Amino acid sequence: MSDIIKNLEEIFGTENVSVSEVDKLMYSFDASQREGKTQVVVWPKNALQIQELIKYALNANLDIVPRGGGTGLVGGCVPNNSIVVDVSKMNKIENINLKEKEVLVQAGLVIKDLNDELKEHNLFFPIIPSSHKICQIGGIIATNAAGIRAIHYGKTDKWIKEIQIINGNGDNLTIKDPTEICGSEGILGIIIGAKLKLTDILEKRTLTVKTFDDIDRLCESVEKVAGNKNITAIEFFGKHTAEIADIKSQYHLFIEYNNDDGEIKEINKINELLNLRKGLGPLIGSKKYTVVEDPKIPMNKLPDFLRWLEENKIPVFGHIGIGIFHPRFKPDQDKLIIEMFELVKKLGGCVSGEHGIGLAKKKNINSKAIERFKILKKKYDPKNIFNRGKIYD
Ligand SMILES: Cc1cc2nc3c(=O)[nH]c(=O)nc-3n(C[C@H](O)[C@H](O)[C@H](O)COP(=O)(O)OP(=O)(O)OC[C@H]3O[C@@H](n4cnc5c(N)ncnc54)[C@H](O)[C@@H]3O)c2cc1C
Repeated sequence: MSDIIKNLEEIFGTENVSVSEVDKLMYSFDASQREGKTQVVVWPKNALQIQELIKYALNANLDIVPRGGGTGLVGGCVPNNSIVVDVSKMNKIENINLKEKEVLVQAGLVIKDLNDELKEHNLFFPIIPSSHKICQIGGIIATNAAGIRAIHYGKTDKWIKEIQIINGNGDNLTIKDPTEICGSEGILGIIIGAKLKLTDILEKRTLTVKTFDDIDRLCESVEKVAGNKNITAIEFFGKHTAEIADIKSQYHLFIEYNNDDGEIKEINKINELLNLRKGLGPLIGSKKYTVVEDPKIPMNKLPDFLRWLEENKIPVFGHIGIGIFHPRFKPDQDKLIIEMFELVKKLGGCVSGEHGIGLAKKKNINSKAIERFKILKKKYDPKNIFNRGKIYD
């Protein structure tokens, strides 16, 4: 062990290597609350240090776990006696190209920090997960994250021009097509930077709130508005969630527009209502519903899925406009979760719409997806030094 530390300190400097009990404990978890085991934590400051680390890890057969903000909900950066590489010290904005509306950033940059910086240029990066105050560019690329406005802006992969990644041979690659890296959950290499597309800040935002007693009426209403290009978000919460939030027990739809079509025009009121929706996660969590799922359901099957949730009294909210839901369970409700996954598959949906597979959903990933990841693993990390045991065994 002391040999490892000595070698890592030579690469990163003593101040950027830790085996303190506090750090080891903190880095053994992510937001999924799964616990692993950290061997050592390192904080690289540049690509060369990471390349040196990889050379060393290849020789010593060590497992490297890339980590961003640690907000992942599937245990994707939970280590297994691994070296945890926290890229948060590589967090610079290298260049903003106003003419091309693009920005070159390092992977450890936090999404909110990027958008705060872009405000003065009237631009923004539109992938804004609810965790945007903590999650990082590398993390959202690795999970191909979505935000509440995914119905309008899509997922992270749509906003990537280039990714810089160090692979399992220690090569520093610039990749123009994001398809293979977006959603690869840290098993192919360490993302160190990216060129991102930007868009103009939303000048106008209005909101309509609708309530329903009946699932069919709710789904008809979603169907009616779903093709409208001026809609930037369609958010939802169910009856049981409303009861927990002390709101009238009904289904709620929040529809945000980028023009005057919404009934509520006053921006403070709009933000207040959207913050109420965003606050539902922590509120439900405080009632012991701490397990978060993220199934994606085909739009024509929404009523079947919502009926099942209601019959089982499961609190739920989510991005109904793109069919992604966040049903919440108590830790002892494993059987119900398995039942839900069976239903999701039967309805032709997918068990993870945005959080990824990590450790939590390995049992539920299909063989076609595993085959694809195995091919990518061979291409980028043939000696398997990154994030062993994640996505598939
Ligand atoms: C309160 C809360 C709200 C959330 N809301 C949303 C939401 O609205 N939409 C959504 O999609 N997700 C959401 N999430 C899930 C989570 O925030 C996202 O998955 C996010 O993209 C993770 O980013 P991170 O920087 O925290 O990554 P981490 O949790 O640190 O890591 C996640 C995965 O990415 C890999 N990784 C991280 N950095 C790198 C890197 N530099 N190179 C290679 N691999 C890397 C890790 O190995 C791991 O597999 C939420 C989570 C919480 C706790």
